[in-house]
Amino acid sequence: MADNKDEKKVDEAEEELVDFEEDGENQEVAAEKKEGAKAGTTYVAVNIAGFRDFLLKPELNRAITDNGFEHPSEVQHQCIPQAILGQDIIAQAKSGMGKTAVFVLSTLHQLEDADEKFVQCMVMVHTRELAFQIKREYVRFAKYITFAKIAVFYGGINIGRDKEILRRGSDDFPNIVVATPGRALALTRDGDLQLNRCKFFVLDEADRLLEKLDMRKDVQEVFVTCPASKQVMMFSATLPKDIRETAKKFMKDPLEIYVDSQSKLTLHGLQQYSSDVDEHKKNRKLTDLLDSLEFNQVVIFVRSRDRCEQLHWLLTDCGFPCTMIHGSMDQEERIKTYQSFKDFKSRICVATDLFGRGIDIERVNIVIQYDMAPDPDTYLHRVGRAGRFGTKGLAICFLGGERRGGYGGGGFSDLSDKEVMRQVQDRFEVEIKPLPDKISVDSYMQS
Ligand code: AMP
Repeated sequence: MADNKDEKKVDEAEEELVDFEEDGENQEVAAEKKEGAKAGTTYVAVNIAGFRDFLLKPELNRAITDNGFEHPSEVQHQCIPQAILGQDIIAQAKSGMGKTAVFVLSTLHQLEDADEKFVQCMVMVHTRELAFQIKREYVRFAKYITFAKIAVFYGGINIGRDKEILRRGSDDFPNIVVATPGRALALTRDGDLQLNRCKFFVLDEADRLLEKLDMRKDVQEVFVTCPASKQVMMFSATLPKDIRETAKKFMKDPLEIYVDSQSKLTLHGLQQYSSDVDEHKKNRKLTDLLDSLEFNQVVIFVRSRDRCEQLHWLLTDCGFPCTMIHGSMDQEERIKTYQSFKDFKSRICVATDLFGRGIDIERVNIVIQYDMAPDPDTYLHRVGRAGRFGTKGLAICFLGGERRGGYGGGGFSDLSDKEVMRQVQDRFEVEIKPLPDKISVDSYMQS
């Protein structure tokens, strides 16, 4: 075990290393290639080939069946055959359409049952909750692959635990690591995380990892410790053109899948509405909606950590039991909150953009943007938390009248809510109607 001095040093160094911060949202430009197949409430499964046609390991096929996956989605169909042959891949796919399974299945398929323990697969993501979620995906698909050992490393918790897992001879020594950039880099710099034999390098929500220079530097520093011969895969629902160029510098002759017609990123199972609401009327409007709508689970997005705390307490006081998640919370508390919300222990979660991307909570069928997203891509990612894998859902956003504060590290977003809404409608070619007095439950709840 590392001594305390060592841990302190690493913790201090890590302070300077970057993981996602929710207040500085981005400037991605969404884009495309093929549209997902459409069929009623689930329009994702593409019947051209079944999972068995991919000729994955029998242990994987068993786990796929156990997990209830029947047909591969568009992105799975496009990518898995190439991914299992070791080709580099950069793929854009609509939110919630199964890109995680592309890299989880293809890396597990190629994972070697080696006598000697070494990290074969490195997955990097921008938030700790997403890292935790991806580890769980690996665990459920590796159910019958007994030699697969998966570890997740992220900041905000004692690094000594990670170092212990990575100690030579440790029973938990992983062949697959999922990590956020700051912690991954700290472990690499200290020599605990050795990637000199790594065969697969994956970036999920790749645009988020590459768009800001400081985070990109961390990723790069970890990346260069891997052998040149590794397979590189990158995924996101949004891959702006400049990011594609940066991403391709990490790859060799990749399979490229883009969604260049942005309208095709629209989730058709989702009912989307907006409502003009002055700041002082937002609480009333929100509680009325929570009273009148039927929902399994709902995520309410706000623009800052303070507002997240305030709204959480206000709702609790008003008799709406709810939970909250934002970046100033203690890390263990954050994961506990994520876990208990995923396990349906609470039905309402107030969140910052920490929860805006990648988070997959099956039963969330309503997303309310109490504070409108600062830009169209953030809007797209947020509403994608409802309507997962082609299911029905409802997204409502409040458009405030006054200037908006809190984005960009406490500054102001340049755009008014209405301007963002106009851009959303233009870019994704979707009409977002004013919220009607009554919404048919059938339109947003699975029957
Ligand atoms: P993702 O886009 O990877 O976050 O996946 C969104 C949700 O779709 C997750 O809950 C997955 O378990 C689920 N999913 C992914 N692929 C399939 C599939 N082929 N069949 C059924 N569900 C799937």
